[in-house]
Amino acid sequence: MSLDKVIIALDFPQADEALSFLDRIEGQIDFVKIGMELFYSEGPSLLKSIKGRGLKIFLDLKMHDIPMTVTKASKVLAQHKVDMINVHAAGGIEMMRQACQAYKEVHPEGMMIAVTQLTSTSQEMLNNELGVTAQLADNVIHYAKNAQIAGLDGVVCSAWETKKIKEEINSKFLCVTPGIRLNQANIHDQKRVKSPGEALSEGSDYLVMGREITLADRPLEILREVEKDINKRI
Ligand code: C5P
Repeated sequence: MSLDKVIIALDFPQADEALSFLDRIEGQIDFVKIGMELFYSEGPSLLKSIKGRGLKIFLDLKMHDIPMTVTKASKVLAQHKVDMINVHAAGGIEMMRQACQAYKEVHPEGMMIAVTQLTSTSQEMLNNELGVTAQLADNVIHYAKNAQIAGLDGVVCSAWETKKIKEEINSKFLCVTPGIRLNQANIHDQKRVKSPGEALSEGSDYLVMGREITLADRPLEILREVEKDINKRI
């Protein structure tokens, strides 16, 4: 099924809204993303409810702390059998390595990926505010390489960066890409977007899609369009 690469971002404030949205698209997708807002408000019981529906979970908590703390947290998330978690590559290779080992000891099939630079970070901000003198695109590749050295499965990145990351690292290194739009006229706060089919044909392994589907009056119709867009390009 062509929607098996789509991860729906459940950016809802509370469980009842997230679960009733899932009722509306039941049977269509098998992977969802839970972010900080929903997880901090509902906690692990929500993970259980969603797992109970047979769905895979990407828990997008973007952990960033000293190695010991992120490692212990990763172990806890592995015990919940969360299928994908993430850490900030800015935490360094040792943090990523220890966290990944701890996670995979408990949940070997789980995936750990790294956030390189947030899409809200501009070149100007990187240089002048954060004091990193590199070009943003080079810094993203540098962080992605660190994640690979640490044994992680891949990175979250823009669909515009996948080609280069796959070339510089390897084709199996996962690129999980948000910023996906069917309708390029409605990109909300995303800066550079690609369509689902374009992103997959350029190497994205998973597409993270949120508002275009979750805010739609008829989400099933949008999912059919996503499917069509994917099928016409691959
Ligand atoms: O609604 P939209 O499709 O733009 O949602 C994209 C999702 O991906 C949101 O949950 C957002 O937090 C997440 N994300 C992102 N850019 C990143 C990392 C995560 O848009 N660099």
